[in-house]
Amino acid sequence: MLDVSAELRDANLKLGLIPTMGFLHDGHLSLVKLLDGNCDVKAASIFVNPTQFGKGEDYSRYPRNEAQDFQMLERAGVDIVFSPEPADIYKPEFQTFVEVEELQKPLCGSFRPGHFRGVATVVLKLFNITGCSTAAFGLKDFQQAAIIHRMVEDLNLPVKLLFGEILRESDGLAMSSRNVYLSPEERADASALSRSLKLAETAFDKGERRTGVLENIIKEELIRHVGISIQYIEIVESETLTKKDRIERSSRALIAAFIGKTRLIDNIELKP
Ligand code: AMP
Repeated sequence: MLDVSAELRDANLKLGLIPTMGFLHDGHLSLVKLLDGNCDVKAASIFVNPTQFGKGEDYSRYPRNEAQDFQMLERAGVDIVFSPEPADIYKPEFQTFVEVEELQKPLCGSFRPGHFRGVATVVLKLFNITGCSTAAFGLKDFQQAAIIHRMVEDLNLPVKLLFGEILRESDGLAMSSRNVYLSPEERADASALSRSLKLAETAFDKGERRTGVLENIIKEELIRHVGISIQYIEIVESETLTKKDRIERSSRALIAAFIGKTRLIDNIELKP
């Protein structure tokens, strides 16, 4: 990958990157489309990054199907797939990490200590290894997108960021590699996540601005399902991820919940 990246640089060709953990779905492929007109060569990385998983999380059982991923990426017009082994990315003496200090604290950060330091570090490494000049990320992982945006600004990285809307199944469930873990009953329950966010959006559109009231609307919908265990429901300002009593700037309602043993996240924009 380093050789390819050097060749592209010499030939003055711009590389666009989609970082992924594989087991691809249409949400990932929508990011490939986002690269159109933003680069000369399209690349995707497939790397289940061990440093962003905590103890007891699903690192070892994270779904993988590289043969299928390669086919999907080729069909989607991706020119290069970078699919390293953990030992290529983390040498035994590895000890340097990136921390986006404030944005990594709330939301998922408070339940997954070390997660975003693993994410920021691997994304910077992928930027450096591929030499990409553009990279696309999904708003499905909203806090991750905010953290990467901050890192690029703070460290003056020469990478243009693109952010893609959340792709959903027909019942609203946000596409995720982890949806494959769900049993049929859990899959039915899981649709409550996006439904609850839509209910909050409807109330917001009718004029409700109190975050407590809107968070409660989401909660009321989720607790109707015994199979759902809520980790957090929060409405925060989009740029700073801070909580306010009332929505006055562009904000985001975010959920993390366990459906059985599967942890899913979703979010929606609430923009005055
Ligand atoms: P992952 O393989 O889960 O690390 O995701 C790789 C990239 O795809 C990240 O930028 C995600 O935000 C994005 N992504 C995952 N699911 C979706 C989705 N349903 N819609 C849009 N982007 C997504």
